[in-house]
Amino acid sequence: MHLQNVHARYPTAHRGLAGALNSISFTVAKGEFRWLTGASGAGKSTLLAVLGLSLRPTSGQMDILGVEPARAKRSQLTRLRRRIGTIHQDYRLLEQLTALENVALPLRLAGTDPRLIARESCDILAWLGLAGRENAYPDQLSGGECQRVAIARALVVRPDILLADEPTNALEETESRRLLGLFQEICGHGTTVIVATHNETLLRDFPAPSIEIAQGRVAGGTAPLP
Ligand code: ADP
Ligand code: MG
Repeated sequence: MHLQNVHARYPTAHRGLAGALNSISFTVAKGEFRWLTGASGAGKSTLLAVLGLSLRPTSGQMDILGVEPARAKRSQLTRLRRRIGTIHQDYRLLEQLTALENVALPLRLAGTDPRLIARESCDILAWLGLAGRENAYPDQLSGGECQRVAIARALVVRPDILLADEPTNALEETESRRLLGLFQEICGHGTTVIVATHNETLLRDFPAPSIEIAQGRVAGGTAPLP
């Protein structure tokens, strides 16, 4: 993926810096792992919304998996979105669906064979320690369990890009490490993984190139610039 001078603004935000991205440029190669760092309110979630095609830049150029979203047709954007898995900071599970149904949903939308859907969804839930919780609704699950369902839903489609927004917030330390191990493993299979965090311990224990955001701008990091 490549971004060049990307600006974005929440439609509801007032003028000024708040809620904005300013002149963001970077390149992340296929199969690379990147940390996205920066203080609370820096713009990490906003940048992930742009990369996940849920917030449209006001200007600048973007290349996501070889597609320029600003020039793409609606059907092309739908296909592109299906190749991107997002773990939202606030999980965004559908309350009226069970854990299993939440995880199965992206596969159903993609038209996957129903027998495969059940198996794949159960397998990933089990890997995340949620065997036996498949039929629970989000309001019956703890914060950590909801976060793991959100992780399962993002991973079940085997996305080409994984965007994870503070994905270990509600997890125990051992779970966090296991998850980071999994992220690095899927990078090895060609998935590009971007993980927003301000967890210093994780950053230290899993050294990787980073993009640092401050006040909506790229403020540093160890990532090579385009
Ligand atoms: P981070 O994820 O780094 O904590 P965010 O991207 O959530 O930062 O927020 C960056 C800025 O955008 C903040 O000033 C925040 O108040 C603002 N913001 C976040 N979400 C919205 C929204 N939906 N509408 C308007 N402004 C928002
Ligand atoms: Mg955030």
